[in-house]
Amino acid sequence: MRTPFIAGNWKMFKTSKEAQTFVKEFKEIYEKSDVKVALCAPYTQLAALKEALIGTDIKLGAQNMHFEESGAFTGEISADMLVELGVDYCIIGHSERRQYFNETNLSVNLKLHKAFAHGIIPILCIGEVLAQRDAGEEFAVVRSQLELALVDLSPELAAGLVVAYEPVWAIGTGRTATPEQADDMIGYIRKVIEEKYGDDISEQVVILYGGSVKPDNASELMNMVEIDGALVGGASLKPVDFLEIINF
Ligand code: PGA
Repeated sequence: MRTPFIAGNWKMFKTSKEAQTFVKEFKEIYEKSDVKVALCAPYTQLAALKEALIGTDIKLGAQNMHFEESGAFTGEISADMLVELGVDYCIIGHSERRQYFNETNLSVNLKLHKAFAHGIIPILCIGEVLAQRDAGEEFAVVRSQLELALVDLSPELAAGLVVAYEPVWAIGTGRTATPEQADDMIGYIRKVIEEKYGDDISEQVVILYGGSVKPDNASELMNMVEIDGALVGGASLKPVDFLEIINF
C-alpha cells in the first residue's frame, strides 16, 4: 500500500523568518497523521526550516539541484550541499524550470540519477501545456517526458521515485484538472512505468497530482483511485490551507 503524500512547493516565496513563522503556526494546529508531508522550500530557507521542523514528522525538500557533483557552475547547488542540510526530497523538472530556465528532458534525467545517488528522493514533475491537451497530445507528451526522465534508471531506484503529474494549464491558474482527467493520466503514468519495470515496481511508485489543489477540491482529488497525493503550490503558503489539504 502506498502512503498518501502531500508536498508543499513554496516556489520563490518566503524569507527564512517567514518560513519559521509558518512552521511555528503550523505546529500549533498540526497533529501527526497517516499522510506523509513535505515542504519544498527555496535554498536559503532550508537550514532554518530543518531546525524548525525538529520534533515533527514533516520532511524537507528542495525545488531544484544541479546534475554535476561539483564544479564551476556559478549560482548552482549540488546534491551534496542539499544532503548536508538534511534534505529528503528534491523537485525535479518542474514546468516552471522547463519553461523559464531551459530545463530539458536530458537534464531532468541526469538530475534524477544524481539525486538518487545521494539518497535524495526526486519528485519528478511532468505534464502537458494547454495547446498539447487541446490537440489531444497529452498522453503522448507525458509518456515521452516520463520515458526520457527514466533512461538508464534501475528498477530498484525507480521503485523509490515520486512522480507529480502537473498539467501546466492548471498551475497557479485556479483551473484544476477534473478529478477524472487527473485520475486518467495518473493511471496512464503508472501503466507506462509498468511497461518498463513491471507491476511490482509500478505499484510502489507514488504519483501525485499538482495544479491548483486547494482546501475545497483536495478531498475529491485525493479520493480518486489512482491519485496518491498532491504537490501544492499557492495553497501550501498558509498553514491553515495546507493543513486542510493534508486532512482531506
Ligand atoms: P499551484 O502550483 O498549486 O499554485 O497551482 C502547483 C505547482 O506548481 O507545483
